[in-house]
Amino acid sequence: MSCPDTIPSVRERILRKKKIVIKVGTSSITYDNGKLNLRFIDQLAQQISDLMNRGIQVILVTSGAIGVGVPIIGFQEKPSYLPYKQAAAAVGQGFLMNVYERFFHEYGHHVGQVLLTKGDSLNPKRYMYARGMMMALLELGVLPIINENDAVAADEIKIGDNDTLSATVASIADADLLIILSDVDGLYDKNPSRYSYAKLIEEVPVFSRSLFRTAEGPGTARGTGGMYTKLQAAEICVHSGIDMIIARSTVPRVLYRIMDGESIGTLFVGESVHPQMKKRKMIIGADIKGTIFVDAGCRDAVLHKGSSILPVGITGTSGDFQDGDIISVSCDGEELARGITHYNRNDVDKICGVHTSEINEALGHQAPYDTVIHRDNLLVLH
Ligand code: GLU
Repeated sequence: MSCPDTIPSVRERILRKKKIVIKVGTSSITYDNGKLNLRFIDQLAQQISDLMNRGIQVILVTSGAIGVGVPIIGFQEKPSYLPYKQAAAAVGQGFLMNVYERFFHEYGHHVGQVLLTKGDSLNPKRYMYARGMMMALLELGVLPIINENDAVAADEIKIGDNDTLSATVASIADADLLIILSDVDGLYDKNPSRYSYAKLIEEVPVFSRSLFRTAEGPGTARGTGGMYTKLQAAEICVHSGIDMIIARSTVPRVLYRIMDGESIGTLFVGESVHPQMKKRKMIIGADIKGTIFVDAGCRDAVLHKGSSILPVGITGTSGDFQDGDIISVSCDGEELARGITHYNRNDVDKICGVHTSEINEALGHQAPYDTVIHRDNLLVLH
């Protein structure tokens, strides 16, 4: 594997990426007849496994459940009747995971299937649990393989396309790069299927909504997203401070080359967003269901060391809150922070002032978390 002689300066940032989401579309992992493109999946698995061996955390978002399921259950084309589509997804998803599992196993990695729906990104409680689970898989060295839960999600509760889903996943997981592998080279200044002189845009330093004018309709009959949904994904990423690259999946060794800084596809440069601002969107504006009061030691740790809220620093509670609710953190009459609580008020009352090693005993059962509010879910207001 050779690195490019000169890495374009804007691509140098790619060399520093530590947590990336890779999205593959149905048109990349299947042939036109709906059967799996095993050569592509093998190369994908090899490249992702090698990136993981390099120490990069990877999340794979894959489409294909419906596309693969359709021929398996004997349909000629994607049915429009929703229960049939859901049935195709149920069959196709299992098949797809089985294939991924075997390829990744060959390269020495374990995979975990995660099926999400829209609520997982909108509801703070579900967001918190989805995030905790993804972080845990990454920490344990398992590759999360994500799709929308098409077998149960009806259209109105669906994200609908995996481009947007992959951007949502990148933001839930605090990734620093999303790579969308597709059947296009990237973003062009005009529609390349209509204008032969259309030029590939290598870099979008500042995202502008006027880019949507260059995008038209969905891609293939089997997939869902076209350039429009990719731009929607780019908008989410860029505003969340995440870089995004769209590239053609058939470019040889595409992931290695992108991660080595080669200028492939279109790079949308993420805005510089302070980590606190990312949490702000979710936490500010939500109903505050209660307050926990903390001592001066906890106040210091939160304000100056970026710590989580541990039971030992809590002196009392007010309000009526459940796990997953947004609550306020206060010390001496001053609101320090807001965040999503792992415990309901009743449980916080039982464990307040208690050392980590004694939480189980105070709670009367095995504690699911050491922290009452994890720092990832805590927005400091100072
Ligand atoms: N979630 C759908 C599937 O797996 C694909 C959606 C998309 O292609 O964007 O079939």
